[in-house]
Amino acid sequence: MSFRGRFLPGGAATMALLMFSCLGCGSGGRNSGTSTNAATVEADAKPASISPADAAPPALQTGGFDGAKAYSYVEKLVSFGPHPPDTPAIRNVQSYIRDRLKGFGCRVDVDDFHAQTPIGTLAMENIVAKIPGTGPGVILLLTHYDTLRLPGFVGAEDSGSSTGLMLEMASLLCSGQKRHNAVWIAFLDGEEAQLVENGEAQWTDADSVFGSRELAARMDLSGDLKNVKAVILADMIGQKNLHIVRESSSTKWLTDLVWKTADRLGYGNIFLNSEAATSDDHIPFIQRGAAAVDIIDLQDFTEEGYWHTTQDTLDKLSPRNIAIVGHVILASLDELQEELR
Ligand SMILES: [Zn+2]
Repeated sequence: MSFRGRFLPGGAATMALLMFSCLGCGSGGRNSGTSTNAATVEADAKPASISPADAAPPALQTGGFDGAKAYSYVEKLVSFGPHPPDTPAIRNVQSYIRDRLKGFGCRVDVDDFHAQTPIGTLAMENIVAKIPGTGPGVILLLTHYDTLRLPGFVGAEDSGSSTGLMLEMASLLCSGQKRHNAVWIAFLDGEEAQLVENGEAQWTDADSVFGSRELAARMDLSGDLKNVKAVILADMIGQKNLHIVRESSSTKWLTDLVWKTADRLGYGNIFLNSEAATSDDHIPFIQRGAAAVDIIDLQDFTEEGYWHTTQDTLDKLSPRNIAIVGHVILASLDELQEELR
């Protein structure tokens, strides 16, 4: 994903101004201090020790969401090493995700496709776990699982944390009761820009969110998209110093619902009411008229100098924070199931 702006007070006028003022920013807004780290720092392969403050609480305290299990999936994803699209490593990650989902009892749809990128045609794969509902409506959860094409970059936070979270979500939902709306959990390939120069991703609309664009287009064509009532994207949600602000191109009612849920659960210190714009996997769905929200903390990770560097490693993560975001998404799903009948 990339910044389109920094923290700003909310409001449609501000958002319009923000988006306008950032046209042509390219990778603009990103922290210029991060690139040197990428070239010089080796990935830390040591297993991370988790401080008591960052340990996941018992699952019962987070609505049944098991943060320790989610974190163990992140550890496994990181163990495959750097996995940008169309590499042997990402094929191992894909078979791991498919196998886990099938093991949880999920129905799994796989879409293999080819993406035209600035570095050539790349084979990519979206993996979608489908939990059927009793009605036609669909609530769609999204994460990307590819990592940035940077030597030594394992992406514990970007994209391990949200992928581990969604695997735990699938393990809970695929074995659970049928609800009114179906829940589809999409594990997307090719979120990152494929062209990386001097350690910096050259993010453009044409070179990013390949998996999300493929899924949105495919669902539009099949007619499934019109049944999608809400799209919830998680990205970079496991870092220790987690503060998630409202993403300003996200759908307002859905953002309100998630933030109200977080507040009710006592997580107002993590889900903040300031606002920033981010280009991410939710945008192709918004462009096709779906309601979508992006739950992301790009700001802190960038300011700390870890984002898109080889320092994006397991020791930067807090299983507790993964559990908190998992709890919020799980509880938001409950709210949505009630409201969207
Ligand atoms: Zn990224």
